[in-house]
Amino acid sequence: MSTAYGDGTRAVHAGLPEPVPGEPFLPGPVFAAPYHLDPVAGPAAAPDGYGRSDNPTRRRLEDAIGSLEGGSCLTFASGQAAITGLLLAVLRPGDTVLLPADGYYAVRAFARSTLDRLGVSVRLAPTAGPYPPFDGVRLVLLETPANPGLDVCDLAALAEAAHAAGALVAVDNTTATPLGQRPLDLGADVVLASGTKALTGHSDLLLGYAATRDAALLEALRTWRNQTGGIPGPFEAWLAHRSLATLDLRLARQSANAAAVAAALAQHPEVTRLRWPGLPSDPAYPLAQRQMRRIPGVVSFELRSAEHVARFLAASRLVAAATSFGGLHTTADRRAQWGDDVSEGFLRLSCGCEDAADLVADIGGALDKVSGTG
Ligand SMILES: *Cc1c(COP(=O)(O)O)cnc(C)c1O
Repeated sequence: MSTAYGDGTRAVHAGLPEPVPGEPFLPGPVFAAPYHLDPVAGPAAAPDGYGRSDNPTRRRLEDAIGSLEGGSCLTFASGQAAITGLLLAVLRPGDTVLLPADGYYAVRAFARSTLDRLGVSVRLAPTAGPYPPFDGVRLVLLETPANPGLDVCDLAALAEAAHAAGALVAVDNTTATPLGQRPLDLGADVVLASGTKALTGHSDLLLGYAATRDAALLEALRTWRNQTGGIPGPFEAWLAHRSLATLDLRLARQSANAAAVAAALAQHPEVTRLRWPGLPSDPAYPLAQRQMRRIPGVVSFELRSAEHVARFLAASRLVAAATSFGGLHTTADRRAQWGDDVSEGFLRLSCGCEDAADLVADIGGALDKVSGTG
């Protein structure tokens, strides 16, 4: 799909086959473990032989995501399967990997439980910096905006510095999505993401992917995936592709809702700290304006205690308590309960596709009840 088209056009048409009279726009999922083989030529005769390595529904989704990221895409069973797949496919004993100190917590847990044991040395740097020198580092994993604190890092500058030191650069693009930010254009070697969040946006499936322009890295990842088996099923792949068509619409509404909600939160006396990279007063604002194509619908803020959060969630009718983010329904998650290194009253609020006025009224009313004034 041509990059000259706008985001809505690209999202709606991404990965769809050429029109065939009598066929659906997006062909239904193909369910197969083995496929019929040519009895003489075997797997050489057709593209599909066995479901772990070959599935046409999955390939269509990979074409779609790849066209949005600007690289070749491989999908995985979850974001974690994609991220751990890259780390294990690339890193060798004696290598050093640099991970975000404030990024997705399960990646640090994996580094502690598995990378340490394999003899890979793990260093951490906060997303907003300062970064250590990259000398001796094999792989730099960046996550921007970082989940859950929403700090932002300069991808082009960090990719240049990392490449000068001979390191590979991977970027977790989960929070931004490919319509929010194109890390491969900014110099990253590979993009990783969870498709469970805003990319598919209906809170009904798990998915991950890696996208790259590096043919050798793509093959290493394909071999890794085929040998370890962390593939998404065809129904997930099909649901994800169907959902991708509305990505532009969903992000536009979520981002507009986040702008309205962040403006309201900034005024409320119960809110002790607020982060949203789209707020002009936010420390990440100037960099986000330069680097990002749009700002995600996720807002982070703090109340005074876990008890305040519980009262807020109980009082709200539109904010569901749930982890994950990027879905159609507005949700909020107290991140300390999952082990993130944040205050007890830290909330990650994911704005859904409801009406902004309804959300602002509901959230403001619930915060008033927290303080006992409403
Ligand atoms: C959720 C998330 C992941 C993990 O994705 P799953 O699909 O849950 O495995 C990785 N990185 C970030 C930034 C995430 O938010």
